[in-house]
Amino acid sequence: METAARTAPAPVIVAIDGPSGTGKSSTSKAVAEKLGLRYLDTGAQYRAITWWMLSNGVDVNDPAAVATAASKPSIVSGTDPSRPAIAVDGADASGPIRTREVTSAVSAVSAVPQVRAILTELQRTIAAGAERGIVVEGRDIGTTVLPDAHLKVFLTASPEARAARRSGELKGKERGDLAATREALARRDAADSSRKASPLAKAEDAEEVDTTELSLNQVVECVVTLVEAAMTRAGQTA
Ligand code: C5P
Repeated sequence: METAARTAPAPVIVAIDGPSGTGKSSTSKAVAEKLGLRYLDTGAQYRAITWWMLSNGVDVNDPAAVATAASKPSIVSGTDPSRPAIAVDGADASGPIRTREVTSAVSAVSAVPQVRAILTELQRTIAAGAERGIVVEGRDIGTTVLPDAHLKVFLTASPEARAARRSGELKGKERGDLAATREALARRDAADSSRKASPLAKAEDAEEVDTTELSLNQVVECVVTLVEAAMTRAGQTA
């Protein structure tokens, strides 16, 4: 029987993983906005640490040097899906973390276990503090960071669709030709999938959504439906 005084629903945790160019960020932000949840872009955090390393003369191809420096920068992520923000040592880093230089170096930095340990702890703390719940996007959220998430989604898309989307996001001189973008994506995926420490992988209990033939709205609708079903299973309402 239903009791009159209901306790507040437990926060809903949604993990969205997948390679780049599958629509993870746009989908995660839109789903969080629709459902009144917080949003965390963990890729931005790996980019922020990488940017700090490059700006401070740390050799990103020297894992020992990266490990020693890993705890030095202070990374602060905003979790408002309509205004995603990231600051490094108190300064806004949202522009510099998207340069080609950072994109080329981020896989080497994110493969260092000390970097992953620091960011994983930060990500868990942020998720635990989200009152109504949070959508967390990345590569290892469902497998490692939040293995008890109410819903895990793994987004995929064909290499052609992913390269076309990524190329459309890049501006000015950052936008090379499509073949170069496709090659760079493939290199980053191979590095992210083959590293020892929590590689890019689909969790066994994740729902796989192939976004190749879908519009952003269709993907968002699909994920919102999955979140609502997961919340119903967990005894909550959106
Ligand atoms: O999502 P985005 O493309 O911005 O991620 C940048 C990089 O950060 C990835 O290529 C990967 O090396 C790293 N990353 C990670 N684990 C996550 C999120 C991102 O290793 N959870």
